[in-house]
Amino acid sequence: MKNAITSKLFCSGASSVRYAEAFETPLRLRPRLRLRSACLFLGNLRLILPPLILVACLLSLSACASPAIADPPAATPAHSPVVLISVPNASPTPTPFQPVFPTATAIPPTPTLTPTASATPAPTTPPTATWIHVGAGQVTAPILLYHHIGDVSPANRYYISPDDFRQQMERLINWGYTSITPSYLANVLVNGGELPERPVVITFDDANLDVYTNAFPMMKELGLVGAVYVVTFRMESGGYINADQLKEMAAAGWEIGSHSQSHYVLNLNYDVAAVEICQSRTDLETATGAPVLSFAYPNGVVDNFIVQQVKDCGYTSGMWLGTAVTHYSNYVYYLIRREVEGSFDLDRFGGLLPWTGPIPTATPTAEPTPTETASSP
Ligand SMILES: [Zn+2]
Repeated sequence: MKNAITSKLFCSGASSVRYAEAFETPLRLRPRLRLRSACLFLGNLRLILPPLILVACLLSLSACASPAIADPPAATPAHSPVVLISVPNASPTPTPFQPVFPTATAIPPTPTLTPTASATPAPTTPPTATWIHVGAGQVTAPILLYHHIGDVSPANRYYISPDDFRQQMERLINWGYTSITPSYLANVLVNGGELPERPVVITFDDANLDVYTNAFPMMKELGLVGAVYVVTFRMESGGYINADQLKEMAAAGWEIGSHSQSHYVLNLNYDVAAVEICQSRTDLETATGAPVLSFAYPNGVVDNFIVQQVKDCGYTSGMWLGTAVTHYSNYVYYLIRREVEGSFDLDRFGGLLPWTGPIPTATPTAEPTPTETASSP
C-alpha cells in the first residue's frame, strides 16, 4: 500500500530531488528503486511525449493544410463565405450609384431648382438659355395661340384656367424653353440672328382683359414674354386690354401686334381689309408708343392679296394657324401657330411642342426633324 502510494507520488510528482535520491539508495532498496526509476522514466516520458506529439501533429497539419493555404482565396471566391460578405462592396456594376448623379430629369419640376449657377435665386427665374447664332432661312420654334386665361363655366376651347396656364408655362421653363417675340423670330428667319436652344413664341389673340390680369403677371413672374394681338376698336371697351395696360406690357418686353380694327374677315372686301390692316397699325402705335410689326389674321383668313397689304402697311410678319413648328423665311407672313385649347391636359400640351423633357446636359443633340412642315397658302 505504501509502495503504491509512493509510486503514485513518484509517477505524479516527477521531482528532480526524488530522482537524485534514487541514485543514493542502498542495495536493499534496489527493487523499489527500479520501480521508482521506471516511474521516473514514465514521468519523464510524459514530459517529452506531448511536445513530440505536438510537433508530429503540426507536421501533419502542415502537410494536410498546405493545399488550402496554397490556394489563393480569391481564386475560388464563389465558394468562400468571405467573398459572399464582400459581394455588395465589390459589385462591379455602377447601377446602385446611378441615383447619385441626378440628371435634370431627376429634379422636381420647379423653377427654383434650375441648375444654372448664374441665374438669380428668385424662385421664378427661368433657366439661363445658351443663345447661339443661326443663319437665315429656317427656325424650329413652336408658336402657341391663346385667347382667354380665366375660369369660365361651362368650359370652352378658348378659356384656359389660370391653374392650367401656370402649369403649362412652368412646363415650358422646366423643359428649357425661352420665350421670344414674333417679330424677333421673323427677323431671325429673314436675316439670321441669335436664338436660344429652345425658342417658343406665346401669343394671345383679341387682347382680352384676362390676359392682362392673369397671364401677364404670371408670365412676368416666370420670366416669360408674349405677344398680344389687339382689335383696335375694342381697345377702350370693357373686357379688353386698354392702351395704358398695353404700354405696361410693351415695357415688360411683350410685343403689341394688330388683329385689325374690328376683327374683320379680311377676304370679304379688300378695300375694307386694306384700311383694317393699315389703320389699325397706325392707331395702335399712336396709342401705345410701341412699334407694331406683326399682324394676326382674324379667323385665320388670309390670301395673297391680304399678305401684300400686310407687307405694304409695314408689318414684318403675319400670324396664321396650323400645326407646324418649323418656319421658313419665305413664309414669314404665314407663321403657323398651334392653338392651346381649354380641354388640353399637360400631355396634350406637350404634344404641341417639338421638344419635351429637360434639355440633355451631356452632349448637344441634333435638332429634331419636325414631322410637319408649313403649309403652302
Ligand atoms: Zn381673333
